Amino acid sequence: MMTTPQKLDPMLDCIGIGLGPFNLSIAALADQDKTQLSTRFLERKPSFSWHPGLLLSDAKMQTSFLKDLVTAIDPTSQYSFLNYLVTQQKFYPFCASGQSVISRLEFSDYLAWTAHQLPNAQFDCNVKNVEYKDGQFTVSSENDTFTSEHLIIGTGMQAYVPECIKGQLSSTCFHASELALRAPDLTGKRVAIIGGGQTGADIFQHTFDQHFGKPAHIEWITRRPNIEQLDEGCFTDQYFMPDYVNHFYPLDQKSKQQEITHQKLSSDGVTSDCLQNIYQRLYHDKYVLRNTKWWAIKPHQTLVGSQYRNGSYQLEIQHGLNKTVDNIQADVVILCTGFTHDLPACFDNLKHLMITDQHNRLILSSDYCLQWKGMQTNHIYIVNSGTHNHGIAEPQLSLAAWRAAKIINHLTQRSVYPLAENQNILDWGLDVEPQHDLAAVSSM
Ligand SMILES: Cc1cc2nc3c(=O)[nH]c(=O)nc-3n(C[C@H](O)[C@H](O)[C@H](O)COP(=O)(O)OP(=O)(O)OC[C@H]3O[C@@H](n4cnc5c(N)ncnc54)[C@H](O)[C@@H]3O)c2cc1C
Repeated sequence: MMTTPQKLDPMLDCIGIGLGPFNLSIAALADQDKTQLSTRFLERKPSFSWHPGLLLSDAKMQTSFLKDLVTAIDPTSQYSFLNYLVTQQKFYPFCASGQSVISRLEFSDYLAWTAHQLPNAQFDCNVKNVEYKDGQFTVSSENDTFTSEHLIIGTGMQAYVPECIKGQLSSTCFHASELALRAPDLTGKRVAIIGGGQTGADIFQHTFDQHFGKPAHIEWITRRPNIEQLDEGCFTDQYFMPDYVNHFYPLDQKSKQQEITHQKLSSDGVTSDCLQNIYQRLYHDKYVLRNTKWWAIKPHQTLVGSQYRNGSYQLEIQHGLNKTVDNIQADVVILCTGFTHDLPACFDNLKHLMITDQHNRLILSSDYCLQWKGMQTNHIYIVNSGTHNHGIAEPQLSLAAWRAAKIINHLTQRSVYPLAENQNILDWGLDVEPQHDLAAVSSM
């Protein structure tokens, strides 16, 4: 039952909505005597969890543990991954494990360890409405109302489900982000996994390894021309450095789109480690054990239709080259079809104030301030809002601490955290100075 909001705390400098890793990084860096900021970060979940439906036991990180919430900006912070290892009394065993990439489970445990120490984090606070009036934001959940001068939106992305199968979502046809929460029994089932990115690969591997029972058959469908590897090269890594973002930000939209398209596999492929593991399992299954084939991997195939008949799904998949349409039968469909950047409904009362580009996308300053009608006095910062403003690193952890520091510096209007933005190997050949104010956006 909806209760009337009761508490009205004194106005805060800033409220963060959502407490995933990106706002968590800001919360951790804001919780320092030196920022002098009064902040509160509100999270709807009762305690911290990181994509809990995809926290599969063997899934690994795509990024180094050094790219944690704080280290790139403040390695002396108590919220570093190294401090987590030390306080959890596992530093030496960790070093001996020789891992270059760690499990998502362990990184999630580190994030939760940080989140539950932060005095400015509040859980069980599902923000229902945000309004702006007379130079302040009013943020309401079921039980609380807060006011603040500035806002940081960190509500993450929403699960994307293709139109052709939207009507059939059920306990046997669901988005991958729900998998571990549903923990389906796949024993004896024909399972279709749709989508060939990292999530599709992780789920194929876990299904193959019978984490949810031994399926009768697995079909892994992807519209990509092959199962494509993440580009983890050291030169590719230059895209995930502040220097590149500063060169990218001032480009025109056409050039930005060209760069992002070209860089797709630097963020949207499958780690070589994961692919090798899968490939070796398949080889062993087919050529050593000589099992009757119980799996198929189908690249170049797009899901174009689905019907539910007599307890199973008839999926129509179209080949990307010859355009022929084939049918496959499945008892369970797992949609590894990615995420979109839609703002949650709690921002509906602010949307009419937000200024968008011709593609209806939000426009941000180089300091992550949203362009909106009250921006001269009150700032709305937004993290993880898509790649069109700051580029390919935006949805990744690599620059989360740097972005957090930029936002804090802008909020405080002083250089609380030095940004060391000119570290680079490549000369991008674009003469730009890092921009740190709103003027560039206001004049667009
Ligand atoms: C399975 C998976 C693995 C990934 N692994 C990596 C990796 O290894 N390396 C990498 O660089 N990137 C990785 N990413 C990409 C990216 O780092 C993550 O998606 C990251 O979680 C994004 O952080 P976020 O804070 O924007 O959003 P989220 O983690 O989605 O957090 C948003 C939070 O906002 C809360 N929220 C939403 N609405 C409200 C509301 N109205 N009121 C209160 N709270 C609300 C949600 O409950 C949620 O906790 C991965 C992504 C996925 C899906």
